[in-house]
Amino acid sequence: MKLNVIDYFISLVKIDSESKNEKAVAEQLAKDLQELGAEIKFDNANEKTGGNVGNLYGYFPGNIDKTPILFCAHMDTVVPGIGVKPQIKEDRIVSDGTTVLGADDKSGIAEIICGINEILSEGKDHAPIEVLFTISEEIGLLGAKRLDYSMIKSKIGYALDSHAVGELTIGAPSQNNLKITIHGKKSHAGAAPEEGVNAIQIAAKAIAKMPMGRIDEETTCNIGIINGGNATNIVPDCVKIQGEARSHNPEKLQKVTDQMVAAINDTVKDFKLGDFKATADINVETEYHAFLLSEDDPVVKLSNAACQNIGITPKTNVGGGGSDVNIFNKNGLKMAICGSGMENVHTVDEFIKLDSLTTGTAWVKAIIEEYSK
Ligand SMILES: [Zn+2]
Repeated sequence: MKLNVIDYFISLVKIDSESKNEKAVAEQLAKDLQELGAEIKFDNANEKTGGNVGNLYGYFPGNIDKTPILFCAHMDTVVPGIGVKPQIKEDRIVSDGTTVLGADDKSGIAEIICGINEILSEGKDHAPIEVLFTISEEIGLLGAKRLDYSMIKSKIGYALDSHAVGELTIGAPSQNNLKITIHGKKSHAGAAPEEGVNAIQIAAKAIAKMPMGRIDEETTCNIGIINGGNATNIVPDCVKIQGEARSHNPEKLQKVTDQMVAAINDTVKDFKLGDFKATADINVETEYHAFLLSEDDPVVKLSNAACQNIGITPKTNVGGGGSDVNIFNKNGLKMAICGSGMENVHTVDEFIKLDSLTTGTAWVKAIIEEYSK
């Protein structure tokens, strides 16, 4: 099949696929994978995520007897992602400034498909290849969390979902999400303030006691959302707070999470009025678990060798955010994240350089070649 990665990328970003609405792009990709000779399958992850299509899996049989190697990317984009109008400006592709471009993560998808296509059209011997295009990564890694892992035969793989081509992200933190509801007592603020217990004041005092921001080089935490109150003349009886904590170190994550929870509990217990006691509902959920590959892990070495084969300098880094790869590693796959060239992601200024798409494609191809040796 003749495929040009730039044209192919442009065709993909024109298909709307905000989270939970990936069906149109998934159907196009399913067709393209089949045309390239893959066996394809959709799982039913969307029945649990509320999306309109499941994760898309593709299998390319190889002619070298080896465990398959996996390539992943996510099909959804962040908002605003409807009606993307991609345009080539000098050395890059941009949107018209009213939407994201969707290089996050369609650059990854395009590079995977075009890299595999190059292997196939050159008739090269290769190991079996699995591809996985997930749903709803951007709204909590939902597709990866609900994936039917029995489909995957690979032991190692790469997700293309980061910035510089040649740069491999080999670790990411764990994250805990905190949802807190503080219950005070409602009263008229002018007529009877002494009969109220102000939930906003409790929240303010509790948050003031919490650790906040960067705790150390591997730990952060944040309160990001606060909602409460209905009118200035009512002592508010309810405040909802949402926050998070992240760390590469599980003990540190637990410690900072405990400190945030303790700040709430210690504050709430000071607010009483007669028989009334203020209370807090606190919900802590682990969003994803940390992973860290060593520099001499086969996943890292393979990618580094592939970079050298195509004349780019390999680099590794440890990221500060979670992605599908946290979930894959937790489920027994050894995976790292390849930069696909996306820049200024999650903004309407998102762009990708033309040569990143071609180098990213070459990187995928070189990884398959190196793995197939
Ligand atoms: Zn992404």
